[in-house]
Amino acid sequence: MRWQPRKIWIGGLAALAVAAATAATAPPKGDLLLVPDRVWTADGDAAHAGWAVLVHEGVIAGVGPVDSLHAPADVRRIALPGTTLTPGLIDLHSHVFLHPYNETLWNDQVLKEPQDYRTLEAAAHARATLMAGFTTLRDLGTEGAGFADVSIKRAIDEGMIPGPRMFVATRAIVATDSYGPGPRGFRPDLDLPGGAQEISGVDEAIRATREQAGHGADWIKLYADYRVGADGSTQPTLSLAEMKAIVDTAHLSGRPVAAHASSDEGVRLAVEAGVDSIEHGYGASEATFRLLKQHGTAYEPTLTAVEATAQYFEHYVPGQSEPTARMKEAERAFRTALKLGVTIGNGSDVGVFTHGDNWREPANMVRDGMTPPQALHAATNIAARILRQQDKFGRIAPGLRADLVAFTGDPSTHIDDLQHPVFVMKDGSLYRTPQTTP
Ligand SMILES: [Zn+2]
Repeated sequence: MRWQPRKIWIGGLAALAVAAATAATAPPKGDLLLVPDRVWTADGDAAHAGWAVLVHEGVIAGVGPVDSLHAPADVRRIALPGTTLTPGLIDLHSHVFLHPYNETLWNDQVLKEPQDYRTLEAAAHARATLMAGFTTLRDLGTEGAGFADVSIKRAIDEGMIPGPRMFVATRAIVATDSYGPGPRGFRPDLDLPGGAQEISGVDEAIRATREQAGHGADWIKLYADYRVGADGSTQPTLSLAEMKAIVDTAHLSGRPVAAHASSDEGVRLAVEAGVDSIEHGYGASEATFRLLKQHGTAYEPTLTAVEATAQYFEHYVPGQSEPTARMKEAERAFRTALKLGVTIGNGSDVGVFTHGDNWREPANMVRDGMTPPQALHAATNIAARILRQQDKFGRIAPGLRADLVAFTGDPSTHIDDLQHPVFVMKDGSLYRTPQTTP
């Protein structure tokens, strides 16, 4: 039985339960022929007009000119006129347990929203993400919601709720008293919940890494710096020895490490410790980006997080205001990394802004110097390689999982066309077609 999005979205819990029991994880039987106007495979820069994609039981069976594909006689043809088909998009930096800070400040989300409520929110966010054409997320920390991301991932994998493939980091690791809420600005006798797991010393670093891995973390996330300077400036937090202990422990178990790092010194220490990706990197110097290049460390620029906070707190209006100082700093870092050939993955920090608006990051990467194909590569094949999943998804090629999305127009020439998804398939299951737009 095939996935029937309309029934499921509108029909409430009973229909959801039926869907969970039957269709969600099982791709449709038989073969599907997807016929858009053009196909962007991620193997080159140009979209191919007149191409189609053949899907067989969740796997891409063929891609090429529509007449060259040997589709069986009983193939089900899905016409996608006016669209470009691309690999399912990937966002390497999300927080499905957060929602925009202009709705509720981060402190208030972590302090006042019960974890049960946040988990239900996360399920809604996961659905919005998938419907926007993002079929894979690396979710970098629950921000005080414990290990609940492992349950969201499980519910998606089991077909209970619609959502992207998830690679989760669980609690994330921070240095003692160096991450919010507080403690600065709060009464010192309050026992505050942590936005991440606090450690001091190599033993605690190893223990936290093992705990998070044991509870289901696919990646380990650490914070190399934060706003802990006496003047509120961003300064390194974890020591090199603590970060090395985290990296070594994670790598022993086959898990990569992502580091939040904004200051030049924080980024440099994290790269020296051997982390696999740097998140934000706004203050990193050219010399430090060279170090990323040398070590093969990936970089997620999170340009949209900066833009969104400028909108919330600095009266920035996209397309009208001058970029703020922080936006200019982020742009400088991004252009430096781009010039040096650092591996740049699409990572937006969505959660700071609305889930489902993930398209803003590739659009901002084009605003700040990438070509549309470069931004699409960052959100498909390059992101898959950063996840070490390039043999499973990230391109449209025979043998890979059928994560396929289509947008009205052609995002390989107009990146803003990513705002108009009309078709979403994950793992061969249909979640959205032009006929069943949610
Ligand atoms: Zn983040």
